[in-house]
Amino acid sequence: MSYKILLVEDEAPIADSVAYSLKNEGFEVVVAPDGLAALSLYRSFGPDLIILDLMLPKLGGLDFCRMVRKESGIPIIMLTAKTEEIDRVVGLELGADDYVPKPFSVRELIARVRAVLRRTEAARSQDNQTRLQAGDVTMDLVRRRISVRGQQIHLPLKQFELLRILIANKDKVVSREDLLKAVWDTDTNYNTGTLDVHIRWLREKLETDPGRPEKIRTVRGVGYKIVSGDET
Ligand code: CA
Repeated sequence: MSYKILLVEDEAPIADSVAYSLKNEGFEVVVAPDGLAALSLYRSFGPDLIILDLMLPKLGGLDFCRMVRKESGIPIIMLTAKTEEIDRVVGLELGADDYVPKPFSVRELIARVRAVLRRTEAARSQDNQTRLQAGDVTMDLVRRRISVRGQQIHLPLKQFELLRILIANKDKVVSREDLLKAVWDTDTNYNTGTLDVHIRWLREKLETDPGRPEKIRTVRGVGYKIVSGDET
């Protein structure tokens, strides 16, 4: 089965070369030249992954991302110009799963596409377990849905993975090393600050008072654990 990719990019030379390379690699690709076209293609084409340029005519990448996220947890890789540092963070916060700064090599982009698809598949088939739960947090691994106190929330893929690992080991400490290895493939480019930032984002979505976390606890010098309260 070949994966379907929706490529949203208004610069024709970039779109052409990326689409050409993706097709060469066996992917099925459609290109949308603006945000509105992207939205209708997203619905009619039913892609497995979206490559999304941030600066787009008609409907911007961030708005598009926000709208798609209301409907699904489909993997999204964002393309950003190098100076858009803030937008990167905003993009990931809005639900992009990864970003690739422009200018990029098509090779690098395809490697990211494969990595994101691999992680999505892995999350789907993990131990054939489709549902995880810790206290009032429930994860549906197949649909990639999370509910907290009965409310649906969306998490970008890395936060999703992080939470999945913490819940799979609920009430046990997971070391920083294990978390970095599992979620970021021990990539040395990622300093441990990345982990702390992602934990902070998770707390903002999960905790009643993110400043005084009760679910995701820091275990100093070791790592993190999620406290389920299931045993009491
Ligand atoms: Ca653009």
